[in-house]
Amino acid sequence: MKVFYAASHLQSLPPGHRFPMGKYALLQSSLAQRWPQIEQVQSHPATLGELALVHDTDYIQAVMGGNLGAAHQREIGFPWSTGMVERALCSVGATIMAARCASLEGLSGNMAGGTHHALRERGGGFCVFNDVAVAARLMAVEAQRRGAKRFRVAIIDLDVHQGNGSAAIFKDDPSVFTLSMHGAKNFPFRKETSDLDIELPDACSDEVYLAELDVALGQLERHAPFDLLFYLAGADPHVDDRLGRLALSEQGLSERDARVFAWAHARQTPLAFVMAGGYGPTIEHTVGLQLQTFGHAWAYWQRWQNLSL
Ligand SMILES: [Zn+2]
Repeated sequence: MKVFYAASHLQSLPPGHRFPMGKYALLQSSLAQRWPQIEQVQSHPATLGELALVHDTDYIQAVMGGNLGAAHQREIGFPWSTGMVERALCSVGATIMAARCASLEGLSGNMAGGTHHALRERGGGFCVFNDVAVAARLMAVEAQRRGAKRFRVAIIDLDVHQGNGSAAIFKDDPSVFTLSMHGAKNFPFRKETSDLDIELPDACSDEVYLAELDVALGQLERHAPFDLLFYLAGADPHVDDRLGRLALSEQGLSERDARVFAWAHARQTPLAFVMAGGYGPTIEHTVGLQLQTFGHAWAYWQRWQNLSL
């Protein structure tokens, strides 16, 4: 199984910045230690042409040229730097590579990504470009070039925050189904309309969450089959997450991952997973939850390849 990463050292943040950038390097070293069989591949940057499948060229140029206004940089949450640009491009690149690899091998992932708050014309909430949206469009374009008459994608967004960017980008695109399960009272406060939005109350328990997930996957079934799935496996629905507001346990999140991978596997649909958010009390805590996702991914990939465990 191959997974892709954008070198996280590319972007350095000012001391005391609230974004836990260190989690990416820790995920890489922890994953290498726990599952050395999983191949970690450094990504190439996405091209500007790929970004333009989804984003306005004015916005792309403003990011590339360092012409984002101060207010827009605050909205994104990162000060502009060449490193910020490079990391954003490589993170989109990693999701594109994971999508291609998943299409060939059944399953792959990006060890970062899930920047679902990025809209067509602006970034926000630690998201510069919308990696999953770019990859979904690109895969559809490539399928059309190969002569495919249809190519349908579903985005299963289980980060605790609504996938407002993906919802807005694919609003009028019936070939991409957007599903978002998120905290009703959480960021973004102005929500967009996904094809399926499940809003969860504060302090939502494992039981309620998993029951809602079953309902959501049941509804998704009605729109199947899909040619490719993207799964945003945010660690931020956990009870100890600083930004989450829900109350899922470690076991609850593990069960969530298991159900999504099982759903994809039962339908023989390729799946690319991305990390999305995670703001635990420590980066070790967040990485521990993300490793659970890799554990399920690794188990399902082996089954997909028909190997014995
Ligand atoms: Zn989030």
